[in-house]
Amino acid sequence: MFIDLAKSNRRELPRCDVAVIGAGAAGITLALELEKSGLSVVILEGGYRDYTELSQDRYKGEVTAGPGFTYPDLDVWRLRYFGGTTNHWIGWCRRIEENVFGPRTNDLGNGWPFARADLEGDYQDALEICTLGRDVFDANELLGGLGAKNLIPSSDILATPVWRFPKELRFGGYYRIRMQESAVPIYFGANCQGFSFEEIDGRTSARKLHIKNDLGVDFELTADCFVLACGGIENTRQLLVAANDVKGLRQSDTLGRGFLEHPHGAVGAVMCGDHAPEDLVGFTDYPLDIDKTQFKIGLGLSEEFAAERGMINTSFTMEPLESIPEESLHGEALRKLWESSRPSATKSASSHVIGLYARTEQRWNAESRISLISAKDDLGSKRARLDWRVSDQDVADIKTSLEMVAKELMKAGFGPVTFGDPAEFVTMEGGGHHLGGARMHESPDHGVVDANLKCHAVDNLYAVGGSAFPTAGFSNPTLTIVALAVRLARTLKERL
Ligand SMILES: Cc1cc2nc3c(=O)[nH]c(=O)nc-3n(C[C@H](O)[C@H](O)[C@H](O)COP(=O)(O)OP(=O)(O)OC[C@H]3O[C@@H](n4cnc5c(N)ncnc54)[C@H](O)[C@@H]3O)c2cc1C
Repeated sequence: MFIDLAKSNRRELPRCDVAVIGAGAAGITLALELEKSGLSVVILEGGYRDYTELSQDRYKGEVTAGPGFTYPDLDVWRLRYFGGTTNHWIGWCRRIEENVFGPRTNDLGNGWPFARADLEGDYQDALEICTLGRDVFDANELLGGLGAKNLIPSSDILATPVWRFPKELRFGGYYRIRMQESAVPIYFGANCQGFSFEEIDGRTSARKLHIKNDLGVDFELTADCFVLACGGIENTRQLLVAANDVKGLRQSDTLGRGFLEHPHGAVGAVMCGDHAPEDLVGFTDYPLDIDKTQFKIGLGLSEEFAAERGMINTSFTMEPLESIPEESLHGEALRKLWESSRPSATKSASSHVIGLYARTEQRWNAESRISLISAKDDLGSKRARLDWRVSDQDVADIKTSLEMVAKELMKAGFGPVTFGDPAEFVTMEGGGHHLGGARMHESPDHGVVDANLKCHAVDNLYAVGGSAFPTAGFSNPTLTIVALAVRLARTLKERL
């Protein structure tokens, strides 16, 4: 049921069990899962069913990045309307690597407060919610299904991670009718402005949610529990605002810190060598699985191999070099090769040159952070500032991984390999993945939310989404965000 808050006469919205703030991948999933439970649920969505300039403007902020790094303005890689940023995501999906959940070495962060196996049931639901088809992420099995040979088999050193792509890409489009017909009210133009808190016997809880509609008119909502599902940066921004009243949110001094991205960019290229490009099914293209969902196979170091060396997890996907945009090439040698592989150059050379496009992890870094600035949006809320930092060790690990993957490719009959310039890796871009900022940890001394995504410092306030990731691996995050929303729905059903 869609309701335009600008048309509501009631300033005090009807009380509910669970108020979900944000209708992106996390918020839609949570509401649909909770709908089955008999709990009364309401979604407050800042935007409308379709894009509006006014709503999008509230995502503007300030961005800085470490020397050499660049990051787009905060309203470029976020969308503020029904469906959220999945309105322009690309749909790369896979589970996060298993080692990311466990304790990590070499400054790689604390790991997650539960094992990946504990999330498996929720991942199963998330695969369905994201319309990813059958649960097959094994390169041999996928290629076998197509009758194709795997020219680059995995080994103790080399991994061949697989991504699947949704049959229905746009959450907003796909779930619109279901949400419209659902008993869960979605208030559009409902901009979360913060909470009032109350303290009883030393315990803090959120009493009321304060909301403004697009005209700046105030509304209030009382609920048993509130869930922030506003995307990684906005969740953190809302918690930074709340921390003015609830000092405990800052107990661990991690609120706003540890913003994580996935450094992306073409950092190498390889010649097909003994092989014909058309034999690289799944590696250089995006074929259809037997169930008609697309998949893609990448390359990387095996988790065990990287972990033994205390390195971040990395992956490289193979794309025909000429198809990679020039601005994504890192290093002069790569740019020259790219020039020579353009369609205007000799055709025979072009199709044999394959770019190696990095999609990697970065270490948890306290200096990589989200904060509030004094500039305010039209509704009077302080805007966010992002300072993205990637450590020198991360860049060194990307280079080492690429060299090791290149050796494995040469063993498999590919080559020669051209490397990008490591000095230029520091101009790598992100992937639009906003992770960290309100990390999960069992202890309030080390994290903002607990393993159930509840704020340690507030008894009935939860934050679901990328903000909770303590470390991120290299896998694109949305499948895991959806799995976390399913997990949270289970938690709330048990608690309320
Ligand atoms: C270019 C691009 C490509 C991407 N490709 C991939 C990919 O291939 N694979 C992948 O896994 N991920 C990808 N992502 C990331 C993916 O889009 C996000 O992980 C996902 O959208 C996060 O879901 P979410 O529900 O946490 O947040 P969002 O989808 O951002 O939803 C947040 C919702 O909260 C609402 N909101 C915000 N502030 C307020 C407020 N104050 N009050 C009320 N409502 C509010 C917003 O309007 C929005 O609807 C990509 C991102 C970008 C930018």
